[in-house]
Amino acid sequence: MTEQKNTANPTGLTTAEAEERQKQFGRNELIPKKKKNLFREILKALSEPMFLLLIVTAVIYFLLGEPRDGAVMLIFVLGMISIDVVQGWKTDKTLNALKDLAAPRITVLRDGAERRIDSADLVPGDIMLIAEGDKIPADGEILQANDLCVDESSMTGEAEGVWKVALGTADTDGGHWRRDFCYAGTLVTQGSALVRVKRIGKATEFGKIGVNVAGAPEAPSPLQRQTRGLVKLCAAIAAVLFVLVGCFTWLNIPDHQFTDRLIESILSGVTLAMAMIPEEFPVILTVFLSMGAWRLAKRHSLMRRLASVETLGAVSVLCVDKTGTITTNRMTVCETWANEGKERDLCAVMGMACEPDAYDPMEKAMISYCEGRGLSRDFLFGGRLIREYSFTHEAKMMGHVWRRGNEILIAAKGSPEKILALCNLNSDERDKAQEKAAGMAARGLRVIAVGRMEVGTAGEVPASLAQCRLQFCGLVGLADPPRESVKADILRCRKAGVRVVMITGDNGITAGAIAKQIGMPCGESVTGDEIDRMTDEKLQKRVRSVSIFSRVVPEHKMRIVKAFKANGEIVAMTGDGVNDAPALKYADIGIAMGKRGSEVSREAADLILLDDNFSTIVDTIRDGRRIYDNIKKAVGYVFTIHIPIAFSCLLAPLLKVNPANLMLLPVHVVLLELIIDPTCSIIFERQPAEQNVMERDPRDPKEKLMRAKGLFRSILQGLTVFASSFGTYYTVLMADPAVNAPVARAMGLSIIFLSNILLVLVNSSQTNFAFQSFHRLIKDKVMWAAFAGTIFMLVLLLYTPLSAFVKLAPLTGPEAIAVIVMSAASVLWVEIVKLVKHLRKK
Ligand code: ADP
Ligand code: MG
Repeated sequence: MTEQKNTANPTGLTTAEAEERQKQFGRNELIPKKKKNLFREILKALSEPMFLLLIVTAVIYFLLGEPRDGAVMLIFVLGMISIDVVQGWKTDKTLNALKDLAAPRITVLRDGAERRIDSADLVPGDIMLIAEGDKIPADGEILQANDLCVDESSMTGEAEGVWKVALGTADTDGGHWRRDFCYAGTLVTQGSALVRVKRIGKATEFGKIGVNVAGAPEAPSPLQRQTRGLVKLCAAIAAVLFVLVGCFTWLNIPDHQFTDRLIESILSGVTLAMAMIPEEFPVILTVFLSMGAWRLAKRHSLMRRLASVETLGAVSVLCVDKTGTITTNRMTVCETWANEGKERDLCAVMGMACEPDAYDPMEKAMISYCEGRGLSRDFLFGGRLIREYSFTHEAKMMGHVWRRGNEILIAAKGSPEKILALCNLNSDERDKAQEKAAGMAARGLRVIAVGRMEVGTAGEVPASLAQCRLQFCGLVGLADPPRESVKADILRCRKAGVRVVMITGDNGITAGAIAKQIGMPCGESVTGDEIDRMTDEKLQKRVRSVSIFSRVVPEHKMRIVKAFKANGEIVAMTGDGVNDAPALKYADIGIAMGKRGSEVSREAADLILLDDNFSTIVDTIRDGRRIYDNIKKAVGYVFTIHIPIAFSCLLAPLLKVNPANLMLLPVHVVLLELIIDPTCSIIFERQPAEQNVMERDPRDPKEKLMRAKGLFRSILQGLTVFASSFGTYYTVLMADPAVNAPVARAMGLSIIFLSNILLVLVNSSQTNFAFQSFHRLIKDKVMWAAFAGTIFMLVLLLYTPLSAFVKLAPLTGPEAIAVIVMSAASVLWVEIVKLVKHLRKK
């Protein structure tokens, strides 16, 4: 390892200088942020099949010599485009805000102080501080290096880490890649350094090769693929029905002139096609997932990929790190056992084995324990640090070599297994120490053994800690109590059919004791060494019953995830270190820690936990289930509400209704679309979770969005709404076909409008009754606004001069009552089904 090198401290840029340079050099990014173009957005909206149909209809009206109808259509087109554009804009804004939250950050010196800034705001000349776990954001020269090891495989293809040195100390010229330089896109695997930024953005070596890599689009998620399939299917059916309805209309009106006959036929076909296209499906997906992610972000859980939101609800195994996630990672020394009673000696060596500027909570606890015993920092770190044996997960120990005057002292600490193996103890002493350690571990403490060694000259300092012969100083037991909420959360997970698996570098006894405290089913436990000896098949079998993995190193996590996945589980896995990144990527949901996690792990993760808290993971899974439920409900609703519309367009021509008297003219279909879209994207998105979301097993990942049972219910609901609206229309129309069309149509349409509101209440929950949903949602202003909007629109259409424009007539009192009764009857039967189910369960 390299020795520490102290040069004069550089001061970095001032904020003003940085701003100046940003103007000159631009932002540190490979692809500049694209600004949305309103015009292009509108064009995109216009190229949707729905709008093409609308425009065709408007043109037909103009050709027919009915400019008034054409104009009404065009106004509606404008309305729908604005809804579309506003929604698209809102979604984009949400997604960008999420992206900014997840954007990589870096510590720099600005105005003489350390500051966390967006990596994109780095400018040449900035002094940045990089440390283990960082992804280097720009090219720069190294001013100070501290054990700095960088993985440059993304640039050079060399898997071996490169030990970096400070500028001016590189002995050999390593060709193109310099040892006193670090490069954007490479990973710090160990140590830390001060770096002066030289090149940013596209000017970096990475920018020269990596520009095309960065722009790769996200692959469609399973849900997206499913809905695309659904949309295609509906479009195909619509095309067939378009021709059929066109032909029927043609045959129905032999008395019309040829052009009139043709145009009327096309028009009724187009109306049906409009009614059939489920253009809401893709909207539902993007809106629900992005809004869902936004709501999650507000509650400390940041989704990096939208598609993962849908996977959340299917998670069946949750692998979590013990330290920091299940526990608070606020350690305290609560027991010590000094060999031969030399308590002060134990404390001093323990303190000297810590980093002088400790950031590890365990070391902080140790130092403050020393301070409590009168061993000040100045005393502990007063010597000269001449060598460091760094901590690695494999070695599970570390040491410092201090020179004080003429003495050289090696202070070492680590797991008892490793340290005791280096100590010169006889078997009695060893047994005693091991017994003490086991006792502390059984009380849930992390046990650290401390050892020391004195050497005469610097030349005698061993090359590695493993070569030292230590004198045993004693044992330290540190408590890291579990978070308070964890016990309840473990229970929640168990009810929800999610298995919790604990992964830790601590030993099995400590882990088992903590597991007991939090009410985890203390099944068997397996150690990292045992994993090493198992074949993949064996491990796959073992993970069915094992819930505690102890003494593991990050590399084991990959094998654990693989084993669970091979069993068909959907795995969520937490991780914070550089070495956790592959496992996080491989897991179905990789969870990185926002507070203590490394940049690399964050980049590999699907979800960043901003508060590092286990409860937040469980809440996130719950929300994932809620979002998926709501998508299902919304899709079911869209299906249902399209049935009366499509069937009315289909059946009227079959019943030889005159084209002028049809229940739904194009303008009415558009009107309905205008309320359906906001209903599903606003109201269903806001639905709270079902009461039993966390009391049922995780969803089968292969489950279809519309399963036979749900589809059947949707179709049945749709058919009853159709029967009552079309039935009412047809009965009223037939009483006097010559004059009744506007009233009949107004009644049919009103029934669909009102049923729409009731459908939302009824389908808001599968188990709760509508009045309960009503009660639950009573404070939701947005939903009431949407309902009031629907009613207001209906009143406007019926009782103002507008009614003539849309070919409707005002309803009399009795007619209005009939409409209300019919809509209630068409939807509320579902409540009776719920009641029967409810009673049967009891
Ligand atoms: P975890 O993943 O549970 O935090 P780690 O891999 O960090 O576990 O640590 C594993 C073991 O390594 C600990 O139980 C302890 O024995 C030892 N260890 C951890 N940090 C240090 C340290 N700073 N100094 C000495 N030993 C350590
Ligand atoms: Mg740790």
